[in-house]
Amino acid sequence: MRVWSFASGSDGNCYLIESEGTAILVECGRPYVQIRDFLERTGVDPDTLAGIFLTHAHGDHSRSARYFSKEHRVPIYSSVGTLGALHLADRSLGRAVQSGRTYQVGQLDVQPFAVPHDCHEPLGFRIEAGSGRAAIATDLGWVPHNVARQFRDLDLLVLEANYDPHLLETGAYPSFLKRRVAGTYGHLSNGAAAQAIALCGDRAPQAVWLAHLSEENNSPKHAIQTVSRILRRNGLGHVPIKTTHHRRSNLRWTSSVARERQLPLFA
Ligand SMILES: [Zn+2]
Ligand SMILES: [Zn+2]
Repeated sequence: MRVWSFASGSDGNCYLIESEGTAILVECGRPYVQIRDFLERTGVDPDTLAGIFLTHAHGDHSRSARYFSKEHRVPIYSSVGTLGALHLADRSLGRAVQSGRTYQVGQLDVQPFAVPHDCHEPLGFRIEAGSGRAAIATDLGWVPHNVARQFRDLDLLVLEANYDPHLLETGAYPSFLKRRVAGTYGHLSNGAAAQAIALCGDRAPQAVWLAHLSEENNSPKHAIQTVSRILRRNGLGHVPIKTTHHRRSNLRWTSSVARERQLPLFA
């Protein structure tokens, strides 16, 4: 399994996941041409994508989904709430998914899970293949138990670390926006992200990407420092942590050969 972060943040989100010939996008929130070029550079033909999975309808996640889907005949998988907000001209391209169920798309099994955010039926996704297990959860105000459970036994967790509380508090945002970001249906702070990982204990993810960092109220340095400190305190200092970039494809992860070699033993 391979995972690329193409972009992550309030200016647009997009990830690519591939395993054994099946490729999907999670989020389609950057301009269409940029996503198409990114796929070209990565060697993925947009016409061959098995699906576009959307966590929710906010523009930074869904901006180009409708056009991309129509142009390349790629189905959009998301909640009824998100699909409703997209107003697809060709409804046959929409695939409604529900939290708690598993959807097989080629070689990938995708399990959506509900997250608390100020949008209609927002989701996160856990994605499993023979060669790896990953989950993506951004845009959530806090981490309920049903969500924390999805973070266990992963090879890669892509988790929101949106803001540093001190930077948010002292920053330039108007107070209504500060309240929204820090609210239970807003975004996840660096500390809350770290606590959710720490809760996994010895079933913590093998690697973590901190995502959807605010450009105003956070920095890669703040996010890494806070999360590393809390993980070290919880005996998880060995977990490698990286931060995604707002508008650039800066991270690529490939599942370890060890796991792929182990598979026949359990087949
Ligand atoms: Zn967002
Ligand atoms: Zn959002």
